[in-house]
Amino acid sequence: MEKRICPICGSDQESRIEKIRLMIPEEYHLPETYHIVSCDSCGFCFADTEAELEDYNYYYTHCNSYSGMPVGSEEWKWLNETVERLIAPYVKTGSRLVDMGFGKGIFLRWLREKGYHNIMGVDPTKESVEAVKKEGMDVAVGSIFDEADDRYRESADCVFLFDVLEHLLYPADALCSLQSYLRRGGCLVISVPNYAYLKENTKPIVNMFNQEHINYFSKTSLDNLLRRCGFSILDGNDTGKAEEIVAIYQFTGVRNEQIIRDTYCRTSIQEYVDRFADRKRSIEQALAGLWKKGITEVYVWGTGAFTMWLLANTTLSDLELHFIDNNATKIGTSIGNSEIVAPESIGNPECPILICSMLYGNQIHQQIRQMGLKNDVVIL
Ligand SMILES: [Zn+2]
Repeated sequence: MEKRICPICGSDQESRIEKIRLMIPEEYHLPETYHIVSCDSCGFCFADTEAELEDYNYYYTHCNSYSGMPVGSEEWKWLNETVERLIAPYVKTGSRLVDMGFGKGIFLRWLREKGYHNIMGVDPTKESVEAVKKEGMDVAVGSIFDEADDRYRESADCVFLFDVLEHLLYPADALCSLQSYLRRGGCLVISVPNYAYLKENTKPIVNMFNQEHINYFSKTSLDNLLRRCGFSILDGNDTGKAEEIVAIYQFTGVRNEQIIRDTYCRTSIQEYVDRFADRKRSIEQALAGLWKKGITEVYVWGTGAFTMWLLANTTLSDLELHFIDNNATKIGTSIGNSEIVAPESIGNPECPILICSMLYGNQIHQQIRQMGLKNDVVIL
């Protein structure tokens, strides 16, 4: 029985939008279904999941392999330019800047290249901290739920929190702990996926609604959360036309309970969900086409989140499946009873290849042709 209350206003009155089914490896210890709901009181949309804080702590410590956006990509450039514009009025080259959850240290490096020299990073992963420390960066192991230690307490002029809040069961608690890093009047720069802008989003539903993304912010909802946690709004994109929200807030310490009802995010999500239902129907047609030809056995190239979604939500699992992946870390592991093998293991030309990849469908298709494979190919 799901029971999550609204993480922004605390209301337990919510309306269901869609049920999400995932096929999740047992070792993740996370539920395979949840409902996307919207809060009847403030309009915030979120995952009503059974999972508890310790489940997510376990998952993020043991199972997660988050890689972040590719450096140099269009979205990376857009994010950097936006951040640079937002912080310009508030931050000087000597300002104390903290990147919370720095991952591979990409943003810390970017700050250093831009001439900022009083920078530090906090990340929960020991390996990340050790790797980035070797580059001479001031970095420490820490969680967003821990208070800053004495060395860093109330010293930051600006804290960066990129793509974190959409993952947290209790985002308000995290924002409270994070305040211990900030001096009064300091700034917080946040980025989260923009769920009010799903209009032209054609990515599979599992890219937006998966076991990790459990808070679906619009700018209105993000502002509501920050106001209630003692921040005032300085600047940020609110056009509803970018896939990512990037906004800057000032830490005032004055909590403001005012809620501006989010009236548009639910509609945006509903339209997206309906559109993806059409795509699911065309996937089912493609699979039915295989059955009609008497095909019962296929190669499935790609073993990521999209494949897991297909297995949980379509008739793909009725076929005999041989899993293929380019990723060396996945080869030798299994899905169900079937081992994942390298592309070189494809040996039956009569067996069609289904490409199941959110991002690399065309590249995989090209690779299949370069390998000289004559198998029929279907891109799902
Ligand atoms: Zn609410």
